[in-house]
Order: sequence, then C-alpha cells, then structure tokens
Amino acid sequence: MRQAIQSRRVLTEDGIRPARVLFEAGCIVAVEEYESPSSGVEDFGDLCILPGLVDTHVHINEPGRTDWEGFATATRAAAAGGYTCLVDMPLNSVPSTVDVPALGAKREAAAGQSLVDYGFWGGAVAGNSAELSSLAGAGVLGFKSFLIESGVAEFAMVREHDLRLAMPAIAESGLPLLVHAEAPEPVERSHRWLAGRAPWTAYSTYLESRPDEAEVEAIELMIRLCREYRCRVHIVHLASARALPLLREARAEGLPITVETCPHYLYFDAETIPDGATQYKCAPPIRSAANREELWEGLREGVIDLVATDHSPCPPALKLMDTGDFAKAWGGIASLSVALPAMWASAKARGFALTDVVRWMSAMPAQLAGLQSSKGRIATGADADFVVFHPDAVFRVEPRHLHFRHPVSPYLGQDLLGQVRRTYVRGKRVFDEGEFDANPSGRECRADLPACRLS
Ligand SMILES: [Zn+2]
Repeated sequence: MRQAIQSRRVLTEDGIRPARVLFEAGCIVAVEEYESPSSGVEDFGDLCILPGLVDTHVHINEPGRTDWEGFATATRAAAAGGYTCLVDMPLNSVPSTVDVPALGAKREAAAGQSLVDYGFWGGAVAGNSAELSSLAGAGVLGFKSFLIESGVAEFAMVREHDLRLAMPAIAESGLPLLVHAEAPEPVERSHRWLAGRAPWTAYSTYLESRPDEAEVEAIELMIRLCREYRCRVHIVHLASARALPLLREARAEGLPITVETCPHYLYFDAETIPDGATQYKCAPPIRSAANREELWEGLREGVIDLVATDHSPCPPALKLMDTGDFAKAWGGIASLSVALPAMWASAKARGFALTDVVRWMSAMPAQLAGLQSSKGRIATGADADFVVFHPDAVFRVEPRHLHFRHPVSPYLGQDLLGQVRRTYVRGKRVFDEGEFDANPSGRECRADLPACRLS
C-alpha cells in the first residue's frame, strides 16, 4: 500500500524544502511538491523530515559480551536516536568477526531482534590475511584493524608487515580498511614516563598517556601504505587535529583516504572533564578545547568526511567510577540515542546548518559502507528511512533517554538541541514518541545486494 508523509522542511537532495514523500513496500517512490494536507497523507507541519542516520562505528558486542550491549538494546537506542542503519565493529563480541563462521554467528545474533537495519565490518588482524577475501565474498562491508592493542585479547593488533599482507586482498575487494590510528611507541613512551609519577585519577594523566604523536605517526604509516597499495583507507575516530595537515595533503594527492571523528571529540573538551570521571574515557582521548575547534574546521573544510559515534558501552562496574582510575577503567563512550542532538547543539552554535550535520551522519557514512544507493538520502529509489525531528526542542539528558543496555554516558545532564519524534525504517515506524515497534524487522544491508527496486 502506498503511503505519504510531508512537512514544510524535508531534507531532500536539493536541501531543506516543503515536500511530500511517497513510499511503498519500503521504498521511496516519489518526492513531490508539498500540498495542503489531505486524507491519507501524514503532515508533520514545521517538523523536519530527515533521511535516517547511518552509524558506521558501533560496538554491539553480541554474541559473547551481550551483558555489555546487544542487538536488541543497541538498535532500540539507535531508533530513538534517529539511526536507521548501524554497521557493527568486528571486536568486543566473542568470537570477533575475523572469519566467515564468526560472521555467521553475528548474523544469527542479529536476526529477529534488531529494530533497525545493520551491516558488518570484518576484522583484519595479525594472522588472518587468508580469510579476508572470503569475508569480502560473504558480505562484510569493509575491514577494521588496530595499530595498537585493541583492549580485548581476541582481537590482535596489526603491525606494518601484517598490513602488507592484508592490504593487497582488501584493495582487490574494493572495500575500505578502517584503522584505529594510534601507534604504540609514543603511547608506551608516555606510559613509561608517567609510571609511578602521575595520579591516574587525573584526566590530564590519561590525556598525556595517549599523545597526539601516536595518532600522527599511525596516520603517516597509513598514508604511506595507501599510496603503495591504493587500498581505500578510512581513519576512524580522529581525535588529534595535529594530523589534519597530513590528511589534507594526502587528499590533495588523490589518495583514497577518508576520515571520521566522533560527537564526543566535537562536544567535550579536556579542560572541563573532572578528575575521576571515567565515563569520558575513550581512545584516542578527548583533547583540548582548541583542538576541538580545529576538528570543527576540518569538518567545515571537508578533510573530515563524517561523524560516527564509536558507541562502545560496557557494564557500569568496568568503568570503575567508584575509584575513578583512568588506567584501569574500560575505555568507550556510549551515545547512540543522543548523538544527533549533541551534534546539532554544537554544530548550530558554530554556524553550521542541519544539512551539514545530516551529511556527516547519514549520506557520508552510507557512502563509506557502500550503501549510498539505499541509505542516506530522501530520493526516489532509496529506502523509506526517515526521521521526524524537532530541531528547536531543548532537553536535558536523563537515563530514560538513553535506551542502550547500561545508562552510563558523559552526556547525562547535558542540555542538547533537537528531539527525534519518530523513526521509520523501510516505511515502518520503529520509534514513535517514546514507543518502540514490538516486532523487530531490521535486516542486513549488503553492498553487493541490489538497492530497493521500484516495482
Ligand atoms: Zn570503536
């Protein structure tokens, strides 16, 4: 059955304008002129209708660490946050997604309990280069590697010689290689220097332990290898603006390198993080306010392509919030359900438009994952994924807004801008004013499957 929604502010491919969107069987069949409300057409007035957001950096942790997060809870938080597609990172679940059977375990875990659509990154770890082609053939959207210890024993970091084994196969697949870009040596040097000297409850100690040089060195290596192998490289969660000049040059040279940063690097700053507040711990760390403003300039200029959450929850006990020990606490920030209002609050304050925020959080991540024909845009032929968004609503984040498994987040207590009222995935309402669809029907997105076809 054909359905229609409209508002005076629909984010179409020509910008925000009054429009009516018709959809049928999960696909957008037409984007037409806005007309006076008529029966059978849901009219949202002045609320914005945005394309569903796509988050290409989420740790869902199931199977194996479902007590940390899982498909049911992560996709609820996603729906409440305006996301209609998540791409799951290959680590923190057990097994890690480093071979085809492990990908099968992921698929089994996700099926039947996901409210929104999802895809999978595979892992490129030390010792699995022989698995990469078959993982690509089995439908992963790309690969993820760590240049430093990943934090979990079952996901081995890579060194240059491992990358040299992996990159030819990845280049051949045409898929991107996503890299956690911190080099171990500068981090080890800092740890040695800080050992026994600095209090680990101080945020400044943690910040010093993961210096800018670690990011710069790792990115230098990736640029060099990208030039050699012409493999698509994507730098995940860039935190240090010191790497921007290198990335700018690499892009000018025409290398296939893309860059992401996260809401927490754009919203918070090291100067205002209280000591002992381990809910802010993530790697690389949240750096200075001056650095944050340079990251915003990187987005403005386009050297940074997109914003992904790096949603990485854990049970509250692992955050060690009672002792505030930054050395031992689990690093990871959970933000799926509040990333859009956090981004909109900070972007608007810096003169950006809502179209910029949605480009960084929807169209560009869809493109990274190879899903641009179905996700990330309101246009004929794309999936009927929409977010009904009130851009002027202000709210203070409380645990009830979070929806992921454990309501721990540095955004608690923050005043954010914009409220997700409703979320549609392929034409189906999955979130509506605080209520969730009781029949999860999210499905896997595969770049090699045909996009939504018009009948
Ligand atoms: Zn991550």
